[in-house]
Amino acid sequence: MASIFTKIINGEIPCYKVAETDEFLAFLDINPNAKGHTLCIPKKEVDKIFDLDEDTYMGLMAFSRRVAIALEKAVPCKRVGVSVIGLEVPHVHVHLIPLNRMDDARFLSKETLQPEEFEAIAKAIASHL
Ligand code: AMP
Repeated sequence: MASIFTKIINGEIPCYKVAETDEFLAFLDINPNAKGHTLCIPKKEVDKIFDLDEDTYMGLMAFSRRVAIALEKAVPCKRVGVSVIGLEVPHVHVHLIPLNRMDDARFLSKETLQPEEFEAIAKAIASHL
């Protein structure tokens, strides 16, 4: 069965899109640790990051770096943190999280945002790409 992220790639489920190439997609995490929390995924559906072929892995890192640089310009924060977990969704994703304090990296406290805020943040990040 297709992962929820493959359904997003195929347009079957909506997302707040930040960036897209032929191989990769970046969109806002729906349950963010902090405003601007973004996920970068390969369109190829693979569960675990180190099972990616080397070209896709390197491409995903380069894509994530480009998105992270734009994110740091768009969302005030001390720095952008990077996490790869994957315990919830079995489709490789790189979490890019604007960090102001250690708790922002802990996946414990979450921000509630309205659709208009998600839309504005996605647009702001995209404008810095
Ligand atoms: P994990 O697999 O543990 O790295 O976590 C999966 C992440 O995907 C969580 O932070 C979820 O909030 C996020 N997530 C799950 N479904 C969606 C969705 N439809 N759109 C955006 N983010 C999602």
